[in-house]
Amino acid sequence: MTKRLYYQDSYLKEFKAKVLKKIKIDNQPAVVLDETAFYPTSGGQPYDKGVIQDVPVVEVVEEGDEIIHILKEELKEKIISEVVGKIDWERRFDHMQQHLGQHILSGALMELWSVETVSFHLGEEVCTLDIAKEKLSEEEAKKAEECANEIIFDNRPVKCYFVEGEEELKRLNLRKVPEKTGKIRIIEVEDFDLSACGGTHCRATGEVGMIKITKWEKRGEKIRLEFICGRRAWKDYFWKNEAIKNISNKLTIKDSELGEAIDRMLEDRKEIGKELKEFKEKLQEYEAKRLIDESSLRDSRIKIINKVFEEDNFQEVKELVQKIINLDESVIVLFGVKSGGAKILFACSRALKYDMNRLIREAGKFIEGRGGGAPNFAQAGGKRAEGIEDALNYALEHFQEFII
Ligand SMILES: [Zn+2]
Repeated sequence: MTKRLYYQDSYLKEFKAKVLKKIKIDNQPAVVLDETAFYPTSGGQPYDKGVIQDVPVVEVVEEGDEIIHILKEELKEKIISEVVGKIDWERRFDHMQQHLGQHILSGALMELWSVETVSFHLGEEVCTLDIAKEKLSEEEAKKAEECANEIIFDNRPVKCYFVEGEEELKRLNLRKVPEKTGKIRIIEVEDFDLSACGGTHCRATGEVGMIKITKWEKRGEKIRLEFICGRRAWKDYFWKNEAIKNISNKLTIKDSELGEAIDRMLEDRKEIGKELKEFKEKLQEYEAKRLIDESSLRDSRIKIINKVFEEDNFQEVKELVQKIINLDESVIVLFGVKSGGAKILFACSRALKYDMNRLIREAGKFIEGRGGGAPNFAQAGGKRAEGIEDALNYALEHFQEFII
């Protein structure tokens, strides 16, 4: 059995203990001491890091009433020899701030609406709390946060002690009935919250600093809240303040006016997008007319437009072709696009009875391409960009053979 020193003193950073066992856990060296200040992963709180005789502790787990320290390398010390353990205080204190913050937030939810906490998880970046509540409005979240922070600002003492026996537990009227029986460890936030917990906590609520609910979502019949406390909350405030300061400086707008300014900018962007689309349409129509005007005549009646685009948006070229054949009743379009391989696009006015689908299958061979489409509008793509001119020339010479 390992004596848990953190039960009595969460602030113990260094301790001496005797080596009871040296074992292997998944091939990693591990050690069991007669007593320890290292907290093992349990009750939603992660393990402590630190060193034992300067050997890093990589994980701490609980097995029955023993605490196993998994180490980076084997300890030189033999069984029964004394070792010195030091815990990573920054990590531990962070866990204390988050964990006591959770008790306070759970206490606030209980006090305000008799809402039970279902589970808690202290993550690397955020903490989550599952609560038995159907919905949580912005207003309610703010109220819970406010109530919890008031308890923090009160700097109420936090006591921990053990109790035993059903009568005693009933008398205490805990926030949640513990699953365990026997000796139960109680965390008491003066005149506010009593709960059974084995975790490490600050000695007064003020040390939690502050609590911030960052978001929440519905999870089945529960609500999952995300929150941060203490140094995490300050770090979060720091970067968010920097980000808002930078954005408002760039826009030369007061930070408090940022919301309205962004709304205005989004509205403007929508408007500009609309205008740009109209402008593009007009430009395309103008381009279509120009190409028809500059087309070469075949047999004094068929207008032929052939052109190779170097770098172009294929979708826009397709739209242009559509415009051309809609504007004129006797036009044949033979286009090539060189960007991203080779593409060819053949089309003709509906009144002309040429089969562009069959024509492009033949001409496509020059670009080692495949494709097809409708009789008056077909496209093909291939690997040989240098074959585009040959494909277009083939089409120019032979289109009259491809009659529907
Ligand atoms: Zn707890």
